[in-house]
Amino acid sequence: MVELNDTFKDLKLAIFDLDGVIYRGNELIGRADEIIQGLKNLSIEVKYNSNNSTITRDMYVEKLNKMNISAKISDFYTSASITAQRITDFGENANIFIIGEIGLKKELEKKGHTVFDDSSRFREIDYVIVGLDRNFNYQKLADAQRCILDGKAKFYATNEDSTLPGKERILPGAGTMVNALKTCTSTEPIEIFGKPQKAGILSILKDTGIDKEDTYFFGDRLNTDILAGNRAGIKTVLVLTGVTTKDQVQKLQERKKDSEDVDMNLFPDYIIDSLSNILKI
Ligand SMILES: [Mg+2]
Repeated sequence: MVELNDTFKDLKLAIFDLDGVIYRGNELIGRADEIIQGLKNLSIEVKYNSNNSTITRDMYVEKLNKMNISAKISDFYTSASITAQRITDFGENANIFIIGEIGLKKELEKKGHTVFDDSSRFREIDYVIVGLDRNFNYQKLADAQRCILDGKAKFYATNEDSTLPGKERILPGAGTMVNALKTCTSTEPIEIFGKPQKAGILSILKDTGIDKEDTYFFGDRLNTDILAGNRAGIKTVLVLTGVTTKDQVQKLQERKKDSEDVDMNLFPDYIIDSLSNILKI
């Protein structure tokens, strides 16, 4: 029987970031599949919290299944699904113009909203929501700008990641598109729903009913994963299989020592080389 390592002996709910923690692109990292199964065998709840809004939760289920990890739609809290939930909390049947991909579109439509991809009816648009859009172009930006400046649309965003890890190089993240719209409207998004905001983690805590003290967030990025986890008051673990290196954490610690203004919430409670460190195998 596998056991938890002593550091994690109070773990009851494990929240994982996906890219850089469970997989890299389409490749499973190490033995993440076995670790997830091991946790489930110990009756530990497993949830996933990703800032990637480009695919739907159904597509995430499929993606993990292909990597030998069983999952269900309700296991995933993506910046698209969190956005769709929050927008629905504001009111039903909204007209929304998006800069974003199918994940964001479908999650909003599933909640009963109408998604537009041009500004011909700009006066009727309630919200402009910006997420990662790999087909982003000048026309989309001009349409979004029109809905906000000439119409009544309110500006929201899924997340503000500046970059994302590509297969061989770093690529522009959703924040790039958010900033483009900020610039041409001279307005800020009213709310950004993904990490480092704690909304997703708080939903997971609420839905599972598990205490903060027994909950750990496993992520590979300090300024989204770790920051969100610390803001939500749960324990945070930096996993070194993604974008952040130990060296970067040390440099940040030195800057802190030099009494520079560094947010304490950027520091994880623990640092592990890979998810294998959670269990005694
Ligand atoms: Mg990540």
